[in-house]
Amino acid sequence: MNLIYVHGGVSGREREELPSLEGPRRAGLGAAGALDAVEASVRSLEDNPALNAGLGSVLNRRGKVELDAGLADGAAGRFAGVAGVDVRHPISLARRVLEDTPHVLLIGEAALEVGEGLERLEGSTAEQHERWARAEASGELALDRYGASEHVDTVGAVALDVAAHLAAGSSTGGVFGQMPGRVGDSPIFGAGIYASAEVAVVGTGVGELFLETLACFRAGALVEGGLDPQSACERVIRYLGEVDPLEAGLLALDGAGRVGAAFRGGSWAVEGPDGPLNPARLP
Ligand code: ASP
Repeated sequence: MNLIYVHGGVSGREREELPSLEGPRRAGLGAAGALDAVEASVRSLEDNPALNAGLGSVLNRRGKVELDAGLADGAAGRFAGVAGVDVRHPISLARRVLEDTPHVLLIGEAALEVGEGLERLEGSTAEQHERWARAEASGELALDRYGASEHVDTVGAVALDVAAHLAAGSSTGGVFGQMPGRVGDSPIFGAGIYASAEVAVVGTGVGELFLETLACFRAGALVEGGLDPQSACERVIRYLGEVDPLEAGLLALDGAGRVGAAFRGGSWAVEGPDGPLNPARLP
């Protein structure tokens, strides 16, 4: 059986409002290996309309969905991402890029060439469209409001299988009100996602901060250097806080099955084999 941890994004929501992630975690339990487990769990997260990925994705400044996802196979040392796409399960599109192309990153409409049979999204939920209309009317879409705590909530998963292979997956609608064409950290290896033979890491928060610091690689490299995953996540989250006081979360799993999770900000739902995890909340 696979060891899986899933998360629902660092959020401005109250802890009591966070959705249960037990279903998404279970979705990957019986999968054939870590990569399948991560894909199955992230697909289930993408199906939850309360989360900012797949069905429930936030809208950009023009009121459109532009989704990003990344999938890392730590054992094989391989990665693939997709950016600015409009399919219900971007994580599965990333899987197609990983397995059916010689490329690492495909973007926009053209990426759908490898997505035959994947369901397209018409838009997001009625709730997200109403939210966008309210935001447009009130001026909340102004770029100086970009990255407010209620504007994020990406999803992700890390898994370890019986063969001791690690994998990581991340999927997001991006940041509410982002400029059209903006790409976040989820499909960029080392920024919002990282995996090797020794560790799998996913991040959540305003992607620009993760892109400019290669936050997931930093945490992964610390674990590869001998630090335990919890200390590694805490150290990098503290560092990110010094760079910019934005909300940010890091989840890491090593080859021994040790997990680490730390964040700054309002709340963060992380689910593991023993139920909801209590990620360290740093000042
Ligand atoms: N990291 C995601 C992005 O910047 C957003 C999030 O974590 O909620 O696209």
